[in-house]
Amino acid sequence: MTMLAPGATIGILGGGQLGRMTVLAAAALGYRCHVFAGDRDAPASQLCAAATIAPFSDEAALARFAAAVDVATFEFENIPADSVRRIAAAVPVLPRPEILEIAQHRLDEKNFLRSIGVATTEFRAVESEADLAPALAALGAPAVLKSVRMGYDGKGQATIDAGTEPRQAWRRMGGTLGILEAFVDFAREISVVVARGADGAFAAYPPVENRHVDHILDTTIAPAALPPATLREAEAIARHVAERLDLVGVLAVEMFVTRSGGLLVNELAPRPHNSGHWTIDACITSQFEQLVRAICGLPLGSTERHSDAVMKNLIGDEVAHWRDAVADPRAKLHLYGKKVTRPGRKMGHVTRLLPRN
Ligand code: AMP
Repeated sequence: MTMLAPGATIGILGGGQLGRMTVLAAAALGYRCHVFAGDRDAPASQLCAAATIAPFSDEAALARFAAAVDVATFEFENIPADSVRRIAAAVPVLPRPEILEIAQHRLDEKNFLRSIGVATTEFRAVESEADLAPALAALGAPAVLKSVRMGYDGKGQATIDAGTEPRQAWRRMGGTLGILEAFVDFAREISVVVARGADGAFAAYPPVENRHVDHILDTTIAPAALPPATLREAEAIARHVAERLDLVGVLAVEMFVTRSGGLLVNELAPRPHNSGHWTIDACITSQFEQLVRAICGLPLGSTERHSDAVMKNLIGDEVAHWRDAVADPRAKLHLYGKKVTRPGRKMGHVTRLLPRN
């Protein structure tokens, strides 16, 4: 891969906060960003040098975007595969579009993980309501029914226990193809954010603990307080996944730590991740800068952390706490420029820095 020197233009598919923080990191290194988004006022399009404002189905807009950028990446997973392939025909898209397609499809994702020897919870494909009863009989209750596509932050999910009517669960899931997963009675949820360059260079941030409220990430504790052997195993799993995907970019691997201390991978996100936001303020190189470095062919930066950190998302009305954050000398406030506050909407985050343990 040839290096793209500062001054080149990075295309970002998606206009959300992950794109916004990528634009900021790219600008610090002297790159320009061109965002493809549905809204000129989206968090990332507010800041970028140029924007294509169109739906992902607009072929002419995709062609204009591809012609205007030197490399493209995505900050959002639910982009139609056809649109990404169109861009990839004209300009490199990193991570590879095939990786995005695996992450977009919960069944393909779990089958891929199994095929490379990575443990996941037991699962069954559920193609219709009629498939649900036999799948439940095989896995036992409780179980979690998820739509294979377009799920995030607990959307498209239904937990099924002994008393749940299969019909109700199928309706609540709302998809056309589902995956039934055995419920994991986990001790903790963790994630590992890793980066990989085209030359195979690898960098990992320490595993972090994630706490969810109403299925939405609320708090990340960095690093996770787990035995060193578990931390090493989590990082090794994330590295194995990144290498087997032939990743160029950043990948988050979400895992459950079981009550017996085992690790099961739940999800892959081939992009910067909410659980990596703390790296902006507590590490030498943030996950966003790492993405820019990886896709532009620069050497990866150091992931060394100078502080431990607790990252709290500001969700919905919690954004009103911005005043506390700016008054706290150990806190770093990040707001995403969203005009409308809605319940469940990620409006910003605060990272509180702690002395390194
Ligand atoms: P996901 O959209 O797969 O990341 O799921 C969102 C959240 O739901 C996870 O972070 C877990 O807290 C919970 N969850 C998902 N799948 C399972 C499972 N199989 N067993 C227990 N909890 C789960």
